[in-house]
Amino acid sequence: MELPFAELYKMKMVETIRRSTREERERWLKDADYNVFNLRSSYVYIDLLTDSGTGAMSDRQWAEMMLGDESYAGASSYLKMKATIKDLFGFNDFLPTHQGRAAENVLFSVLVKQGDIIPGNSHFDTTKGHIEFRHAHTVDCTIDEAFDTTLYHPFKGNLDLEKLENVFKEHPNERIPMVIVTITNNTSGGQPVSMQNLREVSALAHRHGALVVIDSARFAENAYFIKMREEGYANKSIKEIVQEMFSYADAMTMSSKKDAIVNMGGFIGFADRALYEKASVYNIMFEGFVTYGGMSGRDMNALCQGLYESTEFDYLQTRIKQVEYLADKLLTHGVPILQPTGGHAIFIDAKKFFPQIPKEEYVAQTLVVELYLEAGIRAVEVGTLLADRDPDTRENRYPRLELVRLAIPRRVYTNSHMDYIAAAVCNVYDRRNEIVSGLVIRKEAPIMRHFTVELERL
Ligand SMILES: *Cc1c(COP(=O)(O)O)cnc(C)c1O
Repeated sequence: MELPFAELYKMKMVETIRRSTREERERWLKDADYNVFNLRSSYVYIDLLTDSGTGAMSDRQWAEMMLGDESYAGASSYLKMKATIKDLFGFNDFLPTHQGRAAENVLFSVLVKQGDIIPGNSHFDTTKGHIEFRHAHTVDCTIDEAFDTTLYHPFKGNLDLEKLENVFKEHPNERIPMVIVTITNNTSGGQPVSMQNLREVSALAHRHGALVVIDSARFAENAYFIKMREEGYANKSIKEIVQEMFSYADAMTMSSKKDAIVNMGGFIGFADRALYEKASVYNIMFEGFVTYGGMSGRDMNALCQGLYESTEFDYLQTRIKQVEYLADKLLTHGVPILQPTGGHAIFIDAKKFFPQIPKEEYVAQTLVVELYLEAGIRAVEVGTLLADRDPDTRENRYPRLELVRLAIPRRVYTNSHMDYIAAAVCNVYDRRNEIVSGLVIRKEAPIMRHFTVELERL
């Protein structure tokens, strides 16, 4: 018999989770205004809300915590982080921040002015939020193939060079300070960007005097896909691939809660000393002194160890194979999911799942609600709620895709949990025709409404 693939780690500590009854869930979700961000975690059996900050640290990361240096300035933990970032990404300078959006806040305080245009590949919601907050605009240049959920393309995160070139043709180039490349492309389904695309985007941006900033939350997963799918990279190590990826960038923002496998943390990496110096002023103002910026020494230590672990092939293979395992079960049952599967999550195509529900009734959120009621699984909407209103017209923006994301936390759940999730999704799919209406908004915030929105069932 061929030996199956199995996880390349074992457990040393566990946390108890509890199931609930459908009746309980009906009550809890109503009290939460049909917004799963309002649910207590104890009301959730399997939590797929996000893979952000929800990973399990390794024994070595915990060991590193004990070695943290909590000095205000010049801590060894800071120097370790500086050396790690230089080693992996090639950047001489960096600023620690408390998480990814803080990195955006600091960097964009220097780079983004009112009226600016920031092209990229489906900017992440906080990225877009920080840009629009400064009265600047994003332009999505993701390739069209990304919007066909069943079409196989190895790098659906790629930017369309023609779309990007057009942005530079249509706007004065001094209004375009940077191009943001998000790896993997979270919003369009955790899809990778190829090395070739990174190289070409970088050349194009630089030709027009714009910087290239990599929004790097899932850089290691992106590198894994390059190794597996792109010609010429099969024999390169993940670290070599990462080094090349970042050689095309002028700066990076990082949410360490993803591929650094820590529960909190972030940073900005800089190729340019002058940009680092300008950003330092804002870091001190918003985050903390440049040698800790919102992080404790022990957290910086764990982060460094996490970066090295997430750039190990064995770790990445275990992770991505788990996501594929769940995807295969859903596909076998005919559930419409985005293909190929991304690195950190399964994305269910809610428009195909519930074609009978009008887009005005928040199709993807309706599926989130059903999945919770069915099995106590907490997923998240990546659709009209997340897309928010147009900042100028205040009309709902209806994205081309209405997705439900099942984000898989790193090293947390077993494949038995994947079996349970698959059964729950398939059960809802089997009774999909009985669900004929969606939700209506009762209350929402002016920006990033999905976190706090209050809904009612129709
Ligand atoms: C999570 C994330 C961010 C924001 O990071 P936080 O740590 O949540 O503040 C930015 N960009 C991408 C692509 C992300 O996935």
